[in-house]
Amino acid sequence: MSTEFIDKLPPLRDVIAKHQLAAKKQLGQNFLLDLNLTSRIARTAGDLSNTTVIEVGPGPGGLTRAILAAGAKKLVAVERDERCIDALNAYLAPAYPDRFTVLFGDALEQDFEALAPAPRRIMSNLPYNIATPLLIGWLKNIQAFEGLTLMFQKEVADRITALPRTKAYGRLSIMSQWLCEVRAEFNIDARAFTPPPKVQSSVVSFIPRPQPLAPASWDAMEKVCATAFGQRRKMLRQSLKSLKLDIEAVGIKETARAEELSVENFAALARQLDEK
Ligand code: SAM
Repeated sequence: MSTEFIDKLPPLRDVIAKHQLAAKKQLGQNFLLDLNLTSRIARTAGDLSNTTVIEVGPGPGGLTRAILAAGAKKLVAVERDERCIDALNAYLAPAYPDRFTVLFGDALEQDFEALAPAPRRIMSNLPYNIATPLLIGWLKNIQAFEGLTLMFQKEVADRITALPRTKAYGRLSIMSQWLCEVRAEFNIDARAFTPPPKVQSSVVSFIPRPQPLAPASWDAMEKVCATAFGQRRKMLRQSLKSLKLDIEAVGIKETARAEELSVENFAALARQLDEK
C-alpha cells in the first residue's frame, strides 16, 4: 500500500482547516504536510510489517498516515492536543480501524513499554522543547525498542552523532553512541513545515546495540559525562577532581580534555566510579 491510499484521505490542509488546527507554539507544533517527506521518514525505518510503531505527537497526522501507508503492523499515537485527537479520530481511525489508535496524554509521563507489545519502535517528529528528556528516557530503556526514528532540530541531531574532538561532542553523543548505532539520515529545511520553525531539522535513526559499547552503569556514565563536560575546556584532572577518579589508571592522560575521550574511555571512568 503506498501513496494511492494516502490520496484517498482528505488533504492535510483540509484537515487543518476543518478542525481549526492553528499551530500552538507552546506545544512545539510545526506540522509537516509534504507527503514525499513524511513518506521518506517512514521508509527510513525499513520493514514495519511486524512492528508496532509508537508515535509521539501525531498532530494532524502527516507522518502518521505515511507510517501506516508504509505498512506498520499497528500504530499507537500519543498526543497532548485534543483538537488533533478529534481530527485523527474523525478521519484516520475509520480508515485504519484495526491498526491505528490515538491516546490523549503527555509523552513525558508515558510508560512506553506498556503502550504496545514488542517488537515496538518509536517514530516521531518531536516537539523540540521536550526532545532531549524524551530521548534520554528511551535510551535508558533502549532494549524495549527495535529502534528509534526521530526528527530533531539539526543542532541537537549534530550533538547526537558528533565524534570526539568536535565542538558538538558531549553527553548526548556519548549516551546515544554508547547504547546505539546512530545514523544521521537527512536534513529537512525549515520551509517544509507549517509554520516554519526558526531552525533546520534532521532525522536520526537509533539502532540499539545488543550490548553497550563497553560495560558501565547508566548513572555512573551520566555522572562522569556531566562532570567532565560541565567544564569542557578544563583538563580532566581538574574537571573530574570532585569524583576522585584515578584517570591515568584507565590509560587517560591527566592533561586530556573531555572532548578528546572516546565513549569507551568514558565507560572506563564510569566503571571506576561504579566500583567505589
Ligand atoms: N507529527 C506531526 C507532523 O509531523 O506534522 C506534528 C509534529 S509537531 C513538531 C509536535 C507534536 O507533538 C504536536 O502535534 C504537539 O501537539 C505534540 N506534543 C507536544 N508536546 C507533547 C507532549 N508532551 N506529549 C505528547 N504530544 C506532544
